[in-house]
Amino acid sequence: MLIVHRQTKDMTVQTDNLTRPSEDQYLNCIRCGLCLSVCPTYREYLSETASPRGRVALTRKGLDGELELSPNLMEQMYSCFACMACNDACPVGIHPADLALEMRQVQEQIRPAGWKETLFGKLIPNPNRMELATLPLRIYEKLGLRRIVHVLGLMKLMPAKIRDMEAMLPRLPQRPLRQVLPEVTNSAGESRYRVGFFLGCAQSLMFAEESNATVRVLARNGCTVITPKETVCCGMPAAGYGRQDLVMAQAQHNIALFEQARVEIIVTDCATCGSTLKDCGQLLKDDPAWAERASAFSKKVRDVSEYLMSIPLEKPQGRIEARVTYHDPCHLRRGQGVWKQPRTLLQMIDGIEFVEMSEADWCCGSAGSQLITHYETSLKVLGRKMDNLENTQAEYIASGCPGCQMQLNVGIRQRGLNVQVVHPIELLDQAYRSGDFSRSREETTEVVTTINKEKSDG
Ligand code: SF4
Ligand code: SF4
Repeated sequence: MLIVHRQTKDMTVQTDNLTRPSEDQYLNCIRCGLCLSVCPTYREYLSETASPRGRVALTRKGLDGELELSPNLMEQMYSCFACMACNDACPVGIHPADLALEMRQVQEQIRPAGWKETLFGKLIPNPNRMELATLPLRIYEKLGLRRIVHVLGLMKLMPAKIRDMEAMLPRLPQRPLRQVLPEVTNSAGESRYRVGFFLGCAQSLMFAEESNATVRVLARNGCTVITPKETVCCGMPAAGYGRQDLVMAQAQHNIALFEQARVEIIVTDCATCGSTLKDCGQLLKDDPAWAERASAFSKKVRDVSEYLMSIPLEKPQGRIEARVTYHDPCHLRRGQGVWKQPRTLLQMIDGIEFVEMSEADWCCGSAGSQLITHYETSLKVLGRKMDNLENTQAEYIASGCPGCQMQLNVGIRQRGLNVQVVHPIELLDQAYRSGDFSRSREETTEVVTTINKEKSDG
């Protein structure tokens, strides 16, 4: 039985009714250390407590009462990047990444944080509030203030952290895509598939052109695309901060919505959303009212690259003359086992010289919000990715995750590299569109370069 000390302002109380990881999740660790070499945080600090093995040991000692579940102990759970590399490396099936997330749930039970209810319970799952909260950013972009700030070099006057936060932002759409995208997009030719599109929050608010491209490519390849407008956040932000209750509520909302849409497949172009949505079946497996529905829902979810490679795909006629590399989002490669498909899509495009990057599947240091919460470590991890990127001499780095894209933008700005960050689907879409207009190779390249320069200009 678990006895922990629940600390309040004035006193310490005991409780033994916590939801906690089961013992077999950590007791079987044989301390072999095979997980150390793949861990980005261990690699930067070479400290046992910042390693997967250390986090497993801290979990065991904390839950067994040998150590207090103190803020310092819990901090090691929050400093994990959830990249899941250790899960794959462990020979006995320990999942240190999952344990760290579960320990954050324990933290929420012993020291609940009110701000999480506001942020993850009230703001993030409400698309209208999110659109309102991000309005100042769109005004900043729309009125040209961002361009002025950069032309005048005012960002140089800001502290480095503020500069990096600003550099994360892509060129923002004037209106959230949710307000613009039709609920039904007809197939360009004969409709062969009825596909649901899960429009993620970051895609709607920040990377609208990417999701526009996704819908265009799907429609071009025989899909009637249904985009329910009332979808809410996939739940990953709440999961990362230990609020599994909110993740479940959001999952139930989205499951019911897509049931009404009567679609065969649910496509997403966000690696994080895809990974979370595919886990809904597991998440709700013990809820008799939802287990079957959640399982059916998760089985339908596909990353866009995964889906496109599973149907007869039109070969794009346009050319893109560029050297392109690819960064694997952790939530796509390890979370979903999808890594061949985006590479194959890129290599379908005539003119692209694809170059594989060393350690393409090594975490970029984003992990959603680590650049904000663990700034120094996040930049250290990003530095390794940038070294590998520079060695490719690529002009484009493609990656299908908004968090990774924002992080990569920070590194590229910091080093002053002439590299554009894109979603693979944007290049595919552009190759289709330039083929339509029979543009010459030079014109095609110019179009893509312009589009991506606009994306990154601030
Ligand atoms: S998930 Fe990544 S950062 Fe966290 S312990 Fe495992 S390897 Fe290290
Ligand atoms: S978590 Fe797995 S890989 Fe890491 S030390 Fe324990 S048994 Fe070895």
